[in-house]
Amino acid sequence: MHDQTDCIVIGGGLAGLACARELVRRGRRVRVLEAAAAVGGRVATDTVDGFRIDRGFQVYLDAYPEGRRQLDVGSLKLGRFEPGALVAEGRRLRRVTDPWRRPLAAVRSLLEGTVGIADALRIARLRGEVLAAAAAGELDPDRPAAADERTTRAALEARGFSARFIARFFEPFFGGVFLERGLETAEPIFAFTFAMFALGNACLPAGGMAAIPRQIAADLPADAIEVGTPVAAVERGVVRLADGRSLTGRAVVVATDRLAALRLLPAGSLPGADAAQPRGEKGARLVAFAAERSPIGGPTLLVSADRSGPIDNLTVPSDVAAGYAPAGGALVAVSVRPDWAGDDAAAAADVVRQARGWFGSVVEQWRPLATLRIGHALPDESPAARRLRPVGARLADGVFICGDHVTSGSINGALASGRRAAEAVDASLTTG
Ligand SMILES: Cc1cc2nc3c(=O)[nH]c(=O)nc-3n(C[C@H](O)[C@H](O)[C@H](O)COP(=O)(O)OP(=O)(O)OC[C@H]3O[C@@H](n4cnc5c(N)ncnc54)[C@H](O)[C@@H]3O)c2cc1C
Repeated sequence: MHDQTDCIVIGGGLAGLACARELVRRGRRVRVLEAAAAVGGRVATDTVDGFRIDRGFQVYLDAYPEGRRQLDVGSLKLGRFEPGALVAEGRRLRRVTDPWRRPLAAVRSLLEGTVGIADALRIARLRGEVLAAAAAGELDPDRPAAADERTTRAALEARGFSARFIARFFEPFFGGVFLERGLETAEPIFAFTFAMFALGNACLPAGGMAAIPRQIAADLPADAIEVGTPVAAVERGVVRLADGRSLTGRAVVVATDRLAALRLLPAGSLPGADAAQPRGEKGARLVAFAAERSPIGGPTLLVSADRSGPIDNLTVPSDVAAGYAPAGGALVAVSVRPDWAGDDAAAAADVVRQARGWFGSVVEQWRPLATLRIGHALPDESPAARRLRPVGARLADGVFICGDHVTSGSINGALASGRRAAEAVDASLTTG
C-alpha cells in the first residue's frame, strides 16, 4: 500500500487537510500523518463539563476568500458577532459602532470626541484605500514580502496617525488579533485583516471552531488519516516515523508549524533557518468560565484598553453560536493580554478582579473551567521574519511545504497554503 501513495502529508492542521483534500479531488492517493490524537492542529475545541472551549480565542472571518472557496460555510451554522463592540476603558464600558465594518464610525464613538478630526480623516482614507485594493485583488497577504515592507506601526505613523490614536484604537483591536501589542506585524497582514473585518463578520461555528477542520477531514477517505503518528525526520524524500518505520511516497508535504518543519527537514532546507529569528512564534492564553447567565447579554466582542488587569478581550461564545454551553449556562472566554506577566494559577482570579469593575459582584459566581496556554499560536509576521519565508511550495525534488508560516497566520493563510502546495504536488506528479 505504501508504494502506491502519491503523497504523504505530515501534519493534519488546516493546511495539511486542505492540501490532502485538494489532492484527493485531483485523483491522488494521499496519507496524512498527524502527531496528535486528532486532526485540526491549532484549531481545536475541548469539552469541559458540557462547555465547548476553543483552544485560544479564534474567529472565522466570513469574508476570507479562501474560506469561501474551500469551506461549506452553510453547514458550519455560523453565529455572527454583532457589528460593534464594547470597549473597556478603566471601569467604563463604551459601546462602539461596528469597529470591524465601519471603523470610522467606531473610532468616533470609541474616542467620543477625544480624537482630532485629522485622525478621523486618516482612518477614513485608510479604509477607502484598503477596500479599493481588496476590490482590485491587490490585497494578498500571502505574496512574498517586499524588501521595503514596513511594520503596521511604522505604516500607521507614516500615515500621520497620532500616538494617542494608535494607543487607543489600533493597539487594542489589532494587537489582540496579531497577539502582539507592539504592532510589529507587517503592513500587508494588517491591510488584509482590516479589509476582512470591514467586509464581513467575525463568526463562530456551532459547537466550536474544531468544526472547520472536521468538515475538511470528513471529505477524505476514511483510511487516509493516521493520528497519533509523529514523524521524526524527512530525509531524501523518505519519511521516518518516531516509531522507527520508514514510509515513502512520490511526494512529501511538510504541513507542520515552522519550528516542527525546521526539526523535520535537513539543515538548510528552509531559507533563513540559520538566521537569528527576529522574535519567534507568538503564544496566547485563555481563561474559560461557566456562568449562570451572560455578562454581556449578546454576541458582542469586548476588547480592553484598560491596562490594570490581564483581560485582552472577553466574549461569550454561547451568545454567538449554538452548542457552546449546556442549557441554562453561559460560557465566558477571556484572552489574556500578551504582555500580562501574572502566572496561570492566578489568571482566573485576576480576570474576575478586573471584570468585577465592569459587571459587578455577579462575576464572583463564575466557575473557572480551564486556563489554557498555547505556546505557538501565530508565526512571527514581522517584515524581517516574512522575508525569510520560502517562495513557492517546492523545497526540493518531491519535497514540499505548506502551513500558515509560509503564507499568513490565519485560517485563510493556512487553507491557501495547503491548496497551493497541492497544486504544486499535482503538477510535479503529472510531469515527473
Ligand atoms: C490562540 C489562537 C488564536 C488565533 N486566532 C485566529 C483568528 O481569530 N482567526 C484566524 O483566521 N486565525 C487565527 N489563528 C491562526 C490559525 O488557527 C492558524 O493560522 C492555523 O490554524 C494554522 O494551521 P496550520 O495547518 O498551518 O498549522 P497547525 O494547525 O499548527 O497544524 C500543524 C499540524 O502538524 C502537526 N505536527 C507537528 N509536528 C508533527 C510531526 N513531527 N509529525 C506529525 N505531525 C506533526 C501538528 O500536531 C498539527 O496538527 C489563531 C491561532 C491561535 C492558536
